[in-house]
Amino acid sequence: MSGRKGNNEGVDEGGREMLLLVKGAQQVVRVAGAGERVKLGASMGDLAIISATQHDGVSIAVQQDGKIAWVGPDSEVGAKFPGARWGRVVEACGRAVVPGLVDAHTHPVWAGDRVHEFALKVAGASYLEVHEAGGGINYTVEQTRAASEDHLLNLLLPRLTRMATAGTTLAECKSGYGLEVETELKMLRVLERARPLAPLTISSTFCGAHSVPKGLSAEAATRLVVEQQLPAVVEARDKGQVAVDSIDVFCESGVFNVAQTRTILEAGRRHGLRLNFHADELTPLAGAEMGASLGAEAMSHLEEISEEGVRAMAKAGSVAVLLPTTALVLRLPLPPARAMIQAGVPVALGSDFNPNAFCLSMPLVMHLACVMMRLSPNEALTAATLHAAHALGKAHQHGSIEPGKMADLVIIDAPRWDHLVYQLGGNDHVITHVIRAGKVIHERHN
Ligand SMILES: [Zn+2]
Repeated sequence: MSGRKGNNEGVDEGGREMLLLVKGAQQVVRVAGAGERVKLGASMGDLAIISATQHDGVSIAVQQDGKIAWVGPDSEVGAKFPGARWGRVVEACGRAVVPGLVDAHTHPVWAGDRVHEFALKVAGASYLEVHEAGGGINYTVEQTRAASEDHLLNLLLPRLTRMATAGTTLAECKSGYGLEVETELKMLRVLERARPLAPLTISSTFCGAHSVPKGLSAEAATRLVVEQQLPAVVEARDKGQVAVDSIDVFCESGVFNVAQTRTILEAGRRHGLRLNFHADELTPLAGAEMGASLGAEAMSHLEEISEEGVRAMAKAGSVAVLLPTTALVLRLPLPPARAMIQAGVPVALGSDFNPNAFCLSMPLVMHLACVMMRLSPNEALTAATLHAAHALGKAHQHGSIEPGKMADLVIIDAPRWDHLVYQLGGNDHVITHVIRAGKVIHERHN
């Protein structure tokens, strides 16, 4: 290696080793604000796009640590990085570049799919009827408890790869199909083993209160989560065996009520976990109001949130993680997305990938959010990048194209980025490159 180290602004006189240069883009959709981490109200639709001029495309320079060093006109790269040696140059060829997509809600570690339930649901069986016919979450719990760690890992990795192929570079991944100490820890260990092997970044969530185990009361299950599962997870975390960012509870009628959910969340908070839970999905329980009172960082679903709950979330700054696939599959009423945005709630999106809603594609989720929940395409992109990263406490590193953040990028095979949302289910073709931390993790070969 020769040459002097560049300064913080990326200007260098001596020829610096750089990881990646993306050049010739028609649009770089930064989704950036003036240092803000969320875009509230009308600003949610402001994507801070840098467009090419007639003679000059847009470049993104990535330094060796995988972070963005600079974004600007192609013609200024030479002056900014004189003599730089680029590990790789990706020609964007007049295409659009958006931030890597962030999936704020997934349940990807499980064995035993539920394809056999699909016909039942289409024929009109409710979530509860499927459950009573021996299907639903209990079936997944049995299969996941019986599966080895290796088997679960082998099932998980291709799912994460499919997410990444569709543009996801950061995903929240929950445990929650064990409902007892051993399997919950097994699921978190599987996520830990996946971390260096997966093409995307993982944020782990402990979701031992995903359901009440068969034969137990919710009260007894609450005690087991607080007195057994959580301490075991925290111990494993403190020993460096698993990283866990958040705690999740399925707050629902017939599952964990609001008081039990609060008890579990407060216990998680005492151990430094972020609060990110399922609220007001099937029944209006005022779960959002309770979550806001605890300062929960994020709440998911919210199909049945009250007006008071919307106001409380806006005040608390809690991110609403909306999941259009679940509403579609279970034919639920839709959450009041427009009212949330108007009230100043930061709205994010997640795939809710799980055996009940087998969707690994955030572009499809964004499309559904637009059509079903009336987000504008711009708002859907902010929801699936910056706001989803904020829901996971990762907006300082992910979710927008800004110097200092990780170079997580998706190149769209069109001069306008919104083809990503417009081409329904077409993301396999509309994406040419997915880049994570400056490394190309997916490239279309045609
Ligand atoms: Zn979920």
